[in-house]
Amino acid sequence: MCIMFESSIEQVTMTKNDARLRKKLEDEREHLTKLLAHHIVKSHPNVGLGNHMADDASRAFDQAREVTLFRQTKNTLRDVENALAKLDSGEGYGVCERCGQPIDFARLKAIPWARYCLSCQRKLDSGH
Ligand SMILES: [Zn+2]
Repeated sequence: MCIMFESSIEQVTMTKNDARLRKKLEDEREHLTKLLAHHIVKSHPNVGLGNHMADDASRAFDQAREVTLFRQTKNTLRDVENALAKLDSGEGYGVCERCGQPIDFARLKAIPWARYCLSCQRKLDSGH
């Protein structure tokens, strides 16, 4: 007998009832919302102040990096809100959107807004 064994159903139930995950999601939503508000302020810098070539080049680089960060932050916020909506509806949270298998609890603790199980995420990341 192994007391560490948990069936998939039990894991999903446990995941849904874990208040720490919800708290983490809510904290993350607040954090990301603030980050985005900050980005929006920063993305309208005073134009025309610098006319030095190097300044312009590094500014263009900074802006490109900002845009990437902004996009990633927005995507993560969307996933966080998506996860909270699933928790609220009581359906689908902690289940991989691709294969329908429960997402490993350790993974959810690290990334509570994970949409895919680790093996699907790896496949998606590698472009398959
Ligand atoms: Zn999967």
